[in-house]
Amino acid sequence: LVARMRPFGTTIFAEMSALAGRTGSVNLGQGFPDTDGPPEMLAAAAEALHGGHNQYPPGPGIPSLRTAVAAHQHRFWGLDYDADSEVVVTAGATEAIAAAILGLCEPGDEVVCFEPYYDSYAASIALAGALRRPVTLRPGADGRYVVDPDELRAAFGPRTRLVLLNSPHNPTGKVFTRAELALVAELCREYDVYAVTDEVYEHLVFTDASTRHTPLATLPGMRERTLRISSAGKTFSCTGWKIGWASGPAPLVSAVLRVKQFLTFVNAAPLQPAVAVALNLDDTYFTAFQAGMQARRDQLVAGLADAGFGVLPPEGTYFVTADVTPLGGRDGVEFCRALPERCGVVAVPTQVFYDDPEAGRRLVRFAFCKRPEVLAEAATRLRRLT
Ligand code: PMP
Ligand code: GLN
Repeated sequence: LVARMRPFGTTIFAEMSALAGRTGSVNLGQGFPDTDGPPEMLAAAAEALHGGHNQYPPGPGIPSLRTAVAAHQHRFWGLDYDADSEVVVTAGATEAIAAAILGLCEPGDEVVCFEPYYDSYAASIALAGALRRPVTLRPGADGRYVVDPDELRAAFGPRTRLVLLNSPHNPTGKVFTRAELALVAELCREYDVYAVTDEVYEHLVFTDASTRHTPLATLPGMRERTLRISSAGKTFSCTGWKIGWASGPAPLVSAVLRVKQFLTFVNAAPLQPAVAVALNLDDTYFTAFQAGMQARRDQLVAGLADAGFGVLPPEGTYFVTADVTPLGGRDGVEFCRALPERCGVVAVPTQVFYDDPEAGRRLVRFAFCKRPEVLAEAATRLRRLT
């Protein structure tokens, strides 16, 4: 194995899902829903499978999906992209992120990112021979994670090539505020760098949150330097389909496509028309999806608080972070490894998302994208901890 990949072992998601399987635990580790997405989408996939859509689709994705991706962004965020030259379909957001970094970073370039970060970021940056410059998100007095403006400013420099921003943010559930986004935008303009935004949770911002989801590309001067990434997995509860996309100015989208050709070439022909159908669903789907997930969040937050955890309630995403110290825990990894034996629940230690494991040592992440009865069972089991 090459040196640059040696620091990366098996992902925590695979390890913890395997542990859940072995122990028969309720799996609140890896973030995937336990119910299927919209029936119209599933029917369209079945129809495509039986209707001869089983050979290589066009490299950038089928035209109807690219059109639907563009229309969706216009409808929800007021962003206009040309479906032919400014949208590319990828094998999930994961491929879009990797292809963007591989296509835009020279060895030695620096990528500013926010820690804790989704685990594929560090690996993609390493594959490109680039270097990460993490800025640490820290919980403030009210439990909300905040960006230190001085730390953010200090992360930018002459070697910065791009900033990789994930909002709503996995694993903290943070939604970046307008002021934080404005500072990111200001620094991107000042240093003349690109932004790659991971917005896979764009439809999962809770209505009681004090902030709204704002794509960075909508800020002044940002559309022309931002590559915006999202995927069907989260919004349409089909994480196994791996249909994602990137939108942005044609040169950035071309860079992704150039790399994508040699990573996967094309992906998932019969699922592409189905995702197009899903993106074109009317607003009631998106509103109901968000409301359903907010109710699940409330249920799990209450269950965790009841079990004695220190809960940091999220403003968005699938995830809630909890402090294990009130339960006598000292280390999230030890805590998560023991949890299946102790009570039959699986969670993910937050420290694996940090460069500095001290920063997240006492925190664990639970996913609430599960049926209410599953969350109720998890809460019952977690109460055995005290
Ligand atoms: N980014 C973030 C922040 C995620 O949580 C995930 C997990 N879904 C991904 C990217 C990967 O998305 P996909 O499954 O579409 O590759
Ligand atoms: N995005 C999901 C999570 O954070 C799962 C990702 C994965 O399994 N690679 O749990």
